[in-house]
This record gives sequence, C-alpha cells and structure tokens, in this order.
Amino acid sequence: MNETTMLPFTHASFQQHLSAHRLMGSRCAACGAMHLPPRAICPACRSAQMTWVEFSGRGRLAGFTSVFIPPTVMAQAGYGRENPYLSGVVELEEGPKISARLLGLDAAHPEGISIGQPLVVDFIDQGDGEKRSTVLAFRPLS
Ligand SMILES: [Zn+2]
Repeated sequence: MNETTMLPFTHASFQQHLSAHRLMGSRCAACGAMHLPPRAICPACRSAQMTWVEFSGRGRLAGFTSVFIPPTVMAQAGYGRENPYLSGVVELEEGPKISARLLGLDAAHPEGISIGQPLVVDFIDQGDGEKRSTVLAFRPLS
C-alpha cells in the first residue's frame, strides 16, 4: 500500500496519477468491471467497493479526429489550420475506452491512420510549477 491507493476515485486523483505518468483507474471489487477514468460507484452493479488498478497502457485506436480549429489553449500552443493535431478514442486492452491526444501520427494526412492499430500510452507534461499539468496521450506501438 502507498499513499496513492488512498486517493478518492475522482478526476482530480486521475490527473494526479497522470502527473506521475501512471494510468490509473478503478476496479469494482463486486463484479470486476474496470473503469477509466476511475468511478466511485460501479455503473454496472452500483457497488461502491472500488480499488485502484494500474492499466497496462496498451490499446487500439477506436476513432480519431484531426483538429484544425483548436480550443484556445491548443491555439496558444501553436496548433491550428496549418498545424493540426489529433484527438482520438483508444480502446484499452482491459476494455474501457478513453479519449486522448494522439502522437506520432500525421494529423495532416489522416488517410494513413488505421482504426484498430496498436497504441501505447504516453504523457505530455506542460507548464511549470503550480501550472504544471499532464495530458494523456497515445502513440503507435513500435
Ligand atoms: Zn461492479
């Protein structure tokens, strides 16, 4: 047991784990369902008996979008019409699907990206000090 196993099953805790480059979700002790991001109450059986579980970080691409018109924070980071980025949905080998940034794929040529291709987790650290945050990302499994 370490201190992270005591965290509540919230999005803030999920982010805290991401900052430590760990992909952590919850597993229902009653029915075994796994949730990512973590859930405090199991949507399958309504149990509140959750434990933290670390996901392998391996999955497959379930869908994606090339973003040419970004939200403000991404525009400030230099993304836009001339420099699109990829946002995707990844189906993890444990079952849950999660949306994330996609790295190592060509956002300007999405015809070269295959649904179902194997991916592995990556973490984008941005900002410093109090403003430091980590964004969940995946890249092709090489
Ligand atoms: Zn359950």
